[in-house]
Amino acid sequence: MTVDNGVAVSVRTYSGSTGRELVGGVVIAVSVDGEPTGVLRHQVMSSPTGMRWGYRGLGPKDLARSLLIDAAGPSLLCGICRGSTQVVFDEAADGFVVFDPAIHEGRSHGPCGACRRGFTLTHHEESAFEAEVVARLGRSWTLTSDQIVQWRRGYLRRTAAR
Ligand SMILES: [Zn+2]
Repeated sequence: MTVDNGVAVSVRTYSGSTGRELVGGVVIAVSVDGEPTGVLRHQVMSSPTGMRWGYRGLGPKDLARSLLIDAAGPSLLCGICRGSTQVVFDEAADGFVVFDPAIHEGRSHGPCGACRRGFTLTHHEESAFEAEVVARLGRSWTLTSDQIVQWRRGYLRRTAAR
């Protein structure tokens, strides 16, 4: 646990090792407050075949995206499509809403224009994290959600100052 603005937050720890490769990708273990909970969800954008690290490329780009999204919690989830990526125009709301086949059957729907595959993470931020952190990871590594959140704060400060 760590305390952020008076609120206790669970620390998530990510660890990768090139010895743990499975078919189609590399397993990145996740533990919460020291307890193993599973593996990092691959947020597919550039590399359907899996996440990688230690260089710059499509696999590292997807690891950067997946780590940033996981560490940020729900704050990066798109407020329009709520991660579903598909939206429909709603006359009553005078805007786009989540496409729900049960409600909007037969209505034309399309990809959400407010996000990238369900999350509001920018390509620029993803690339910066890939270059500054993911490309520099060694064969075996551990990162915590705290370290990632700290990196994000610095990144957002730097980009806001431009
Ligand atoms: Zn969206």
